[in-house]
Amino acid sequence: MGGCPYANEKLIIYSYKNHIVMRKNIVAGNWKMNKTLQEGLALATELNEALKNKTINCDVIIAPPFIHLASVVNAIDTTTIGVSAQNCADKPEGAYTGEVSAKMVASTGAKYVIIGHSERRTYYHETPEILKEKVLLALANGLTPIFCIGEVLAEREAGRHFEVVKSQIEQSLFNLSKEEFGKLILAYEPVWAIGTGKTATAEQAQEMHAFIRKIITEKYGKDIAENLSILYGGSCNASNAKELFANPDVDGGLIGGASLSVDKFMPIIEAF
Ligand code: PEP
Repeated sequence: MGGCPYANEKLIIYSYKNHIVMRKNIVAGNWKMNKTLQEGLALATELNEALKNKTINCDVIIAPPFIHLASVVNAIDTTTIGVSAQNCADKPEGAYTGEVSAKMVASTGAKYVIIGHSERRTYYHETPEILKEKVLLALANGLTPIFCIGEVLAEREAGRHFEVVKSQIEQSLFNLSKEEFGKLILAYEPVWAIGTGKTATAEQAQEMHAFIRKIITEKYGKDIAENLSILYGGSCNASNAKELFANPDVDGGLIGGASLSVDKFMPIIEAF
């Protein structure tokens, strides 16, 4: 996506086996339950225009509500902007009124799906087992899951944040094969930073991202871990994006509020 094919990838050379490892920098916008269809189309096309003929150093993804997906896919250049759903069902199809399957998401032309966002875990009681099913269905339908993990404030204050994040990953993802795991994007989103204006410091983000990469190295090996994009999410905006993205293990951001206008989203994309 976007400009030079290698401009959006971090080049990391590590000594063992002398492999060149490339992982993508990504800025993804989670629109949540905002924008009517008309407003959403206007935002997507404005972003598309803003990115046209620009060299950008990251992949750009937007996650509009389900009902906007097909229209947004048709309105933009999807080689420049990837389109993501914000959720999918934990069942393949059938009598599940109101649900939207991974297969339906894929049929719109969307290529990604956010799974395990803390708002889904908290307000809709999505358990690690439910999320595990969603990830499997997303992968089976050719979608790239953007899997969210992160601790609540009480867990951080109790010094349990590493343990909580490790367990979220283990419970929903460690059933995957190496090949399947290699298709994921992870997003570390400390719940206390989402929509609160309170951002994790660059040090806190780097520390957790390095920890995540370490546990993935232990389970799946260095190749998979070094190629995995781990995004930071939680009150990321134009003024803190550069400092957050400068960290070696922070490969971009999952952006909520600041993705709802091109004026606020573009500077985050340009932080790379
Ligand atoms: C999010 O919901 O994924 C998020 C990071 O929100 P915000 O940027 O508004 O904190």
